[in-house]
Amino acid sequence: MDKDPDTRAQFDVIVIGGALSGASTAFLLKRRNPALRILVVEKNTAFKRRVGEATTEVSGFFLTRMLGLTNYLVRTQIPKNGLRFWFSKDSHGDAADCSELGGRYLSTVPAFLLDRSELDEEVLRRAVAAGIELLRPAQVLDVRLEEGGMQEVRVQSGGETRILNSRWVVDASGVKAQLARANGWMHTNEAHPTLAAWSRWRNTGDWDGLDSEMGNDSSNQGFFGIRGTATNHFAGDGWWAWWIQLKNGDVSIGAVIDQRLVDWSEQEGKVGEKLRGFLSRHPAARVMMRDAEFVEGDVHFRRNLPYWSERHAGNGFVLVGDASAFIDPLYSPGMDWIAFTASAAVELIAKCQDGEGPAPLVEKHNRDFGISYQRMFGALYQDKYDYLGDIDLMRVAFRLDIVTYYLYIVRFLYKDGPQAILKPPFSPREAGPFFRFMRFYNRRLAAMGRSRRERGVFGQHNEGQSDLVGGFNFRLGQLFRTAFDGLWIWLKLELQEGWRTGTSTPRHSKQTGRFFSARAGNFDNCSGLPENGIARATR
Ligand SMILES: Cc1cc2nc3c(=O)[nH]c(=O)nc-3n(C[C@H](O)[C@H](O)[C@H](O)COP(=O)(O)OP(=O)(O)OC[C@H]3O[C@@H](n4cnc5c(N)ncnc54)[C@H](O)[C@@H]3O)c2cc1C
Repeated sequence: MDKDPDTRAQFDVIVIGGALSGASTAFLLKRRNPALRILVVEKNTAFKRRVGEATTEVSGFFLTRMLGLTNYLVRTQIPKNGLRFWFSKDSHGDAADCSELGGRYLSTVPAFLLDRSELDEEVLRRAVAAGIELLRPAQVLDVRLEEGGMQEVRVQSGGETRILNSRWVVDASGVKAQLARANGWMHTNEAHPTLAAWSRWRNTGDWDGLDSEMGNDSSNQGFFGIRGTATNHFAGDGWWAWWIQLKNGDVSIGAVIDQRLVDWSEQEGKVGEKLRGFLSRHPAARVMMRDAEFVEGDVHFRRNLPYWSERHAGNGFVLVGDASAFIDPLYSPGMDWIAFTASAAVELIAKCQDGEGPAPLVEKHNRDFGISYQRMFGALYQDKYDYLGDIDLMRVAFRLDIVTYYLYIVRFLYKDGPQAILKPPFSPREAGPFFRFMRFYNRRLAAMGRSRRERGVFGQHNEGQSDLVGGFNFRLGQLFRTAFDGLWIWLKLELQEGWRTGTSTPRHSKQTGRFFSARAGNFDNCSGLPENGIARATR
């Protein structure tokens, strides 16, 4: 910080947390309305290494087109080449026999593998250059909310505690979720009991090297990409792990586990050793991590990952990024959520400051993000761990999930520009059929996964397959062809074994979690959500 901001004065906006969600909200707001006085309060003197290192196409759009980071990203980070999944049948098997699912070509739409501490620092630096004020290191101790009035923010910095006043508070405090916790809006999504362990590793294997065991002559025929710069996933029964190459040579590797299906406590040692032991059950991970060492002091563990806040905004406050909700890191939606929540927060505050009545804007904001969270969960993540380790089932979801993402979200961003980001996924009325279709095939695949597990045939075809998808781009013919392939494979599965799932009880109907009512799994009846969220979710 160059000079201490004059904190005696009143601010228009105080942002709690200066990492990506806070810094980007402040930056965009300042560009939208240079007259606003915006203060960011950040606890840490420098950002530590943080998880969340792969962008998607939406967050790629946000970083490049909305934050203007293209040149910075191509100079300092790694362009990402899509997603790849590796499946194994036998934990004692040969890595070369693992099946591969992924794109055939390099990606055509911008996305990146990032060192988040560097990126977040850069965005905060640009926000300061744009004119926001920064108090760092300083911690927000608590906030007294006054809807429609001035907010009181108690801040500790340099051994001193002061009260700062502002018309708006943006909570960008990450998983600390300062406002949601303090005000009792926070809920654990008990329908999805996942945990994660992760670290950065050195001396890892080379996916694309001459001696690589992860691509042989036949699987390389017709493959025109680079494996090492994809987000690679090791897929198992009830779990998956990511492999993200970082520019400095380290690799971020972490596992996410559905605690209903996998018992993490069986692993021995400290978290890093547990993670290594756990991953060695996958032949591809075992080979790629043969000589790998985790970076001491950079090993992390978090239980019960998903949660949501029942309020996302009020007349005087708004929650962005992880401070408002988190679902699951598969498909890397964290920075997408930042893109949607930060953009919507800017819109809400800017319009209110311009004199528009806050009540309808706040109501719409809460409704949109409440619905979006519920529907993203149901369409993409609920019970996914019942089938993501089986290539027969996952190849259907891989095609349909990504095609719908491209057709329904990414294409509109590039076609209509940043305005399109103001519609959180699945929140518009016309998104209902998309959501119901996605929830339907996700449930069917989960039911087949459970039935396969019960019959002892889960993952029976996980060896020796190379399933390379034609590519994800904006050519409609290509997208429809990929979708058609996914539907065709699904139809064949239904004809072959779908009838076996008839009597199997859907896992979501066994939930007793707060996320679901007695008619659990029915998103039209979510308990604990704000009245508007429930009512409008039925549309
Ligand atoms: C296992 C796992 C894997 C993930 N993988 C991906 C991925 O591949 N891609 C992706 O997009 N996302 C991923 N995510 C999600 C991603 O990490 C988060 O969405 C993202 O980092 C959230 O950013 P944020 O700015 O909201 O919060 P944070 O990055 O947590 O930043 C919050 C900031 O607020 C500051 N702060 C907190 N409290 C206070 C206070 N009281 N006063 C002052 N400052 C405060 C903190 O110091 C911090 O700098 C993953 C998450 C997990 C758990």
